[in-house]
Amino acid sequence: MRAVVTGGAGFVGSWVCEALLDSGAEVVCLDNLLTGAAANVAGLRGDPAFLFEHCDVAEGCTSRAVRAALRPGVDLVLHLASPASPVDYLEHPIETLDAGSRGTRTALELADEHGARFVLASTSEVYGDPQVHPQTEDYWGNVSSVGPRSVYDESKRFGEALTAGYRRARGTDAGIVRIFNTYGPRMRAHDGRVVPTFVRQALADEPLTVAGDGSQTRSLCYVEDLVAGLLAFADSHHPGPMNLGNPHELTVAQIAEDVIRATGSASPVEQVERPVDDPGMRCPDISLARTELGWEPRVPWLDGLARTVSWFRSRSRGAA
Ligand code: NAD
Ligand code: UDP
Repeated sequence: MRAVVTGGAGFVGSWVCEALLDSGAEVVCLDNLLTGAAANVAGLRGDPAFLFEHCDVAEGCTSRAVRAALRPGVDLVLHLASPASPVDYLEHPIETLDAGSRGTRTALELADEHGARFVLASTSEVYGDPQVHPQTEDYWGNVSSVGPRSVYDESKRFGEALTAGYRRARGTDAGIVRIFNTYGPRMRAHDGRVVPTFVRQALADEPLTVAGDGSQTRSLCYVEDLVAGLLAFADSHHPGPMNLGNPHELTVAQIAEDVIRATGSASPVEQVERPVDDPGMRCPDISLARTELGWEPRVPWLDGLARTVSWFRSRSRGAA
């Protein structure tokens, strides 16, 4: 089995590469390191079954080195390349639109050319600020096409349309997963997402920046659980869209409280302004994944949080 993982040097991508290698696959990781880090896959670089190529998937990744790496054939293309944190995609709006549009096209062409299975890492953001709760896959969403988050939401929605189009028009074995908020080791301390931000702040005894009154909700999935679902979906021929996430729903205020307790921090909570169009609630209905893949998350929130805190602690000790 030879797999191509775009965005493989990112948070989720690096866990995917590792899991694929553990399953005996060969892995070609394509990443331009826009929001990822070579350090995330440094431990894999010595493995002869692993190849890292620095390239921009929106520009085609057509260098001689990449072409040579892909020549022996490809069985699976996992398209994860895209900024994912609101802070990142607001800082890189055009790159985000390109990753979801031109990048998805590159990855689909690659899968089509090799007769490979294709998986698009889409997102719960396609539901926007949802008016249906929990979110089922048949909900069409509530998304602004011109608001600040649209660079991410609409690029993923376009990526979904492109994926469905290739499946229909070309018969590509292409499928879509909608990933809900995922957390764990290897998130960047400054990527702006709620878990790494609160953990970093708590470990530094700084105030935890809760947006608004903290009553908005998210449902947080530990990364190992998410990756197991992603690979089970890749192993199937399911077209999706399929939600992958942990339905355990928490308010942001509760997340802050849990992080303070898990770190033993003396940090206070400080209210900051809510981002524009910040979704008010989010929780996946995962009935489809349960039925079709026999998958469900196993790591409870407080266990995953403890693992994440311990990773961030060991990193800050290393940096000190
Ligand atoms: P991340 O920012 O850590 O990883 C994204 C990776 O893609 C980075 O390594 C980045 O350098 C790379 N990349 C970006 N643009 C690229 C391009 N044009 N060419 C090549 N590489 C490029 O983010 P993540 O949290 O690991 O997310 C991975 C994927 O999963 C994304 O597609 C994201 O939309 C999706 N997703 C993640 C979550 C989550 O909670 N982590 C939720 C929903 C969807
Ligand atoms: N959030 C917060 N403080 C922070 C970062 C995020 O209160 O320092 C809130 C954010 O407003 C949102 C939730 O946490 O309501 C999840 O934000 P995140 O950026 O992790 O992901 P999103 O689900 O918005 O993409």
